[in-house]
Amino acid sequence: MREADVRFDTADHDFTNKPTASCSNKYDVRSVGTHEAGHVFGLKDIYGAHDNLTMCGSSILYSTRARTLAKGDVLGLRNIY
Ligand SMILES: [Zn+2]
Repeated sequence: MREADVRFDTADHDFTNKPTASCSNKYDVRSVGTHEAGHVFGLKDIYGAHDNLTMCGSSILYSTRARTLAKGDVLGLRNIY
């Protein structure tokens, strides 16, 4: 792979770089970027009781938790590479 494109905001979402409790309808742009980079490297969305993972497919609204990889994300990458 030499390059990849990631599209943000395909459904008119709002983003912020500094999420707070008052940002109830905004996505943390850094968390979304990390999540989408995971897709670039071959990881898939994960649903269920794994909301601590960057690759959790459910909402990452007003949260910075997905800015860094969790152990399960790292294990997923190690499984691929
Ligand atoms: Zn995803």
